[in-house]
Amino acid sequence: MKVNPYHSTNPTDPDVYHDHDDCPSGQQIPWQNKRSGTNGYRRCEHCRNKG
Ligand SMILES: [Zn+2]
Repeated sequence: MKVNPYHSTNPTDPDVYHDHDDCPSGQQIPWQNKRSGTNGYRRCEHCRNKG
């Protein structure tokens, strides 16, 4: 399902944002590292493929 943009605050994670809640890469972000917004990042490839 498409959701509002979110990203990880973990510096070791790639600088991308997600906008699907079933993104395999977005699902790996623990709740404490999850922030809403794009943070100026580009869109995650998995999310791009989901449309
Ligand atoms: Zn994603």
